[in-house]
Amino acid sequence: MSKPEIIDCLIIGSGPAGYTAAIYAARAGLRPVMITGMKQGGQLMDTTDVENYPGYPDGVMGPQMMGDFEKQAVRFGTDVRFGYVTNIEVDERPFKVTVDEKTDVYAKAVIIATGASAKWLGLDSEIRLRDAGGGVSACAVCDGFFYKKQDVAIVGAGDTAAEEALYLAKLCTNVHMLVRRDEMRASKIMQTRVKQTENITIHWNTETVNVEGDEFVTGAKVINNKTNEESVIPVTGFFVAIGHKPNTDIFVDKLDMDSEGYLITKGDSTVTNVEGVFACGDVQDKIYRQAVTAAGTGCMAALELERFLAEKEFEASQEAVQA
Ligand code: NDP
Repeated sequence: MSKPEIIDCLIIGSGPAGYTAAIYAARAGLRPVMITGMKQGGQLMDTTDVENYPGYPDGVMGPQMMGDFEKQAVRFGTDVRFGYVTNIEVDERPFKVTVDEKTDVYAKAVIIATGASAKWLGLDSEIRLRDAGGGVSACAVCDGFFYKKQDVAIVGAGDTAAEEALYLAKLCTNVHMLVRRDEMRASKIMQTRVKQTENITIHWNTETVNVEGDEFVTGAKVINNKTNEESVIPVTGFFVAIGHKPNTDIFVDKLDMDSEGYLITKGDSTVTNVEGVFACGDVQDKIYRQAVTAAGTGCMAALELERFLAEKEFEASQEAVQA
């Protein structure tokens, strides 16, 4: 029987956090192996123009940027493997990681960069226009700029929706906030700010029935769930801010997470409750959720992992001397 593969640095996930961790780990000679996940490149594969990532003065398409990240990681020796991690045993050393339910690999240290997925309403028109880059987005900070001096709608009533509505209000002529109940979930201070912003109109008890438009968004067809009255609000951008779901199902009961499933990291670090397991990017960040912040924590994870492996190696050498 062939010897099992033991990897020094295994990275799970291939968004900006995962690739940045890979670039740093590879340049440190750790020969990282990356398991990409089902959507290689992560959330940015659903994005059109990215204009807020430093280093791209003319902007860049999300998939192009992730292709660049991959090239840079591979250039230094990252072994990128397409696959989906279906299990990790955190009580074993090395960690046993199962890919696609059939292949086991073993890792001395693991970086989790599995990201989070935006929640969508699930309307056919919404998904079609999102995938076609036709004006449906789940990130106002990323895409709001494209709707400068235009009218937009935003669905949601939590802190994210409130924050994004305020952001959009600075750029757009009118912001229509579509709230499904007669109250908002957002913190009081955010609600007050939204209510005091002149160009934000809150539509209470309002649900979206259809995102209008063939190639590009032309309006939001909505229904008032109290009166059943339907109407179309003319907009050119349709933002969805109804929450994110961190991709942490496989870590339940294995790693500490908060009530929403985000991995908990210690202090200003990427260290999880399991020694040798690090988490970076959106899987542990529900506040900033930007490519550049994800990349930043990816760098931190690689540096912390490198230090961890060096300490373990030192301890092992000391034990060998004493034996
Ligand atoms: P939340 O889960 O807090 O809010 C989601 C919102 O979307 C709710 O208003 C919900 O409505 C609405 N919603 C859900 N599904 C639908 C649907 N199908 N149709 C219409 N509306 C829908 O998510 P957030 O992303 O806003 O926030 C996540 C966490 O992050 C929170 O704890 C928040 O406080 C925190 N956060 C903190 C920030 C900060 O501190 N600066 C900034 C952003 C977020 P309903 O209320 O009816 O359920």
